Amino acid sequence: MKRVVIKVGSHVLSDKDKISEERVGNLCSFLAKLMQKYEVILVSSGAISAGGHKVNIKKDSVVNRQILASVGQAYLMEIYSDIMVKYDISVAQILLTARDFDSRKATAHAKNLVDGLCKNKILPIINENDATAIEEIVFGDNDSLSANVAYYFNGDMLVILSDIDGYYDDNPNTNKNAKIRPLVPSLKKEELELKADAGSEFGTGGIVTKLKAANFLLNNNKSMFLTSGFDLKDAYSFLLDGKKIGGTLFKR
Ligand code: ADP
Repeated sequence: MKRVVIKVGSHVLSDKDKISEERVGNLCSFLAKLMQKYEVILVSSGAISAGGHKVNIKKDSVVNRQILASVGQAYLMEIYSDIMVKYDISVAQILLTARDFDSRKATAHAKNLVDGLCKNKILPIINENDATAIEEIVFGDNDSLSANVAYYFNGDMLVILSDIDGYYDDNPNTNKNAKIRPLVPSLKKEELELKADAGSEFGTGGIVTKLKAANFLLNNNKSMFLTSGFDLKDAYSFLLDGKKIGGTLFKR
């Protein structure tokens, strides 16, 4: 069975400051279908927004964001767990930091766990450990985490469900004529050096972190699919019907 890593960004999971039940519900129904065909690993952001449901604390300092994330991580897992149980699927939380991929021993331990969870049809839900990964909150992105997850945990492909439906030849916010690039076999140095630009208050990565993730995977002979997390139809067609309609496939 092929193994896919699905990364979902905070934009997709949140509506204003709160978790969007509708989108999390749609995501879970998609994941349940995917798990019939693939081994699935989810990399999920959204802990800070989830924290906003529980405590009234502003996101205006690192420690406040840590508080929101640590309160919210537990709540986010509760939301996933409550929905996935309807599909008879259990979920497991794994919190990682970049350091875990620097150590061969730590990576091997984590991979054994992921392998075991997949074998038992339990959905691993991975997030960065915000208690010690301060950079992630300040300018963090689960894009690079998810690329590491796909590579080190033997994923066949990384699928990024974003607020944008693909990679455009120019910034679609500023250029109405920008066109989506359906297939990207390699990335140029200039593309990887674009200024990292957070899409909004919640997004912390922007397109550059996604391109860097794609570049890392391309260099390691793996592929990445960037598609909309708001409307999952392109993700459904690509992963479940084997038809690529929208989205950008980064593949050599
Ligand atoms: P997420 O929350 O899903 O991780 P981000 O909002 O951080 O996503 O990053 C995606 C955003 O990057 C898009 O919504 C868009 O505003 C911006 N962007 C800038 N240039 C491009 C481009 N060439 N193609 C696609 N998106 C771009």
